[in-house]
Amino acid sequence: MADEKVMDNTVVYDDEALAAEYKAKRQMQIEEDLKKPFDPECVLEVRHLRKTFPLKKTITGKVTKELVAVDDVSFKLHAGETLGIVGESGCGKTTTGRAILKLHQPSAGQIIFNGQDITNFNSKQMREIRKEMQIIFQDPYSSLPPRDTVGGLLSEPVQVHKIVPKNQVKNYVLELMDKCGLRDYYFERYPHEFSGGQRQRICIARALSVNPKLVICDEPVSALDVSIQAQIINLLKKLQREMNLAYVFISHDLSVVKFISDKILVMYLGAVMEFGTKEDIFQNPMHPYTKALFSAVPNPDPTVKMERIKLEGDIPSPANPPKGCRFHTRCPYATEKCKHVTPEYREHTPGHYAACHLLEQE
Ligand code: SF4
Repeated sequence: MADEKVMDNTVVYDDEALAAEYKAKRQMQIEEDLKKPFDPECVLEVRHLRKTFPLKKTITGKVTKELVAVDDVSFKLHAGETLGIVGESGCGKTTTGRAILKLHQPSAGQIIFNGQDITNFNSKQMREIRKEMQIIFQDPYSSLPPRDTVGGLLSEPVQVHKIVPKNQVKNYVLELMDKCGLRDYYFERYPHEFSGGQRQRICIARALSVNPKLVICDEPVSALDVSIQAQIINLLKKLQREMNLAYVFISHDLSVVKFISDKILVMYLGAVMEFGTKEDIFQNPMHPYTKALFSAVPNPDPTVKMERIKLEGDIPSPANPPKGCRFHTRCPYATEKCKHVTPEYREHTPGHYAACHLLEQE
């Protein structure tokens, strides 16, 4: 490599030149990918999504320091499929979900929903497609307005988006409640009368009341008791089958992700470390971060010997990510090269992507 020099048998890296080389190469790849035709079979296609937040500005408003919350995230999602996004706190998974829904305007990249590039849609255009993209939040306690009855909460979006004629709204809502495991007499009750699991059922019913194609599930079961979690996950799976829904399932609970996902995206400090099918990620993880993360998932088979890989150190600040491989400060296999050269994120086997120098040596 032109930006490496060998001096006294040690390689000296020119960090600035390496960063510039990596940036130029990546920019070329991004420009090429963004010109490609959309995949008509996908409900959602995310290409090189980037989201930054300003940290420091001059008095003229020029941004001098920014936090890169999501850096170059790409994936495709079909109807009836679930993509699990995993990673530790602050890895950018929630920001990715919000940027897809344009609750945060993406800083770069493309979001293609149902064959349309919605990246630069204005609020009026978004309002028209909003009903097809819904979100279920983590906290069912704060997601529901307390002053309306369950019937009122569920009827409102149905009426606003004119899903059924006015005189059929109540029957439609009662059917939906039945599908979501809610008794019909709950119609007149208020959210505070329900437990966490029942409230999350109401939130799910509300999201599905407008017949969406895509649902972003942002840690939908982490605030619930373990016994209730299983019921909600089973309900989400049942509704997915019945309505052919595509889910983006954001969670730090890897057992839940394993159960519900078809594909998995592993994020660290805003960037994708590995992406593949559930089988790829659980049976043949390639990236050291994925291996460490998934070594913590309990195996129900007592004959399987579990070897837990412990990650040392704290997660670095996303405002100041490490140079080279951003995982190098915690990676047990890090070499000098990892501290300076950013590994290329590429496809190693069909549909299985990862970014690690160790994989280049194989
Ligand atoms: Fe670890 Fe280096 Fe691979 Fe990064 S590139 S994951 S630091 S071995």
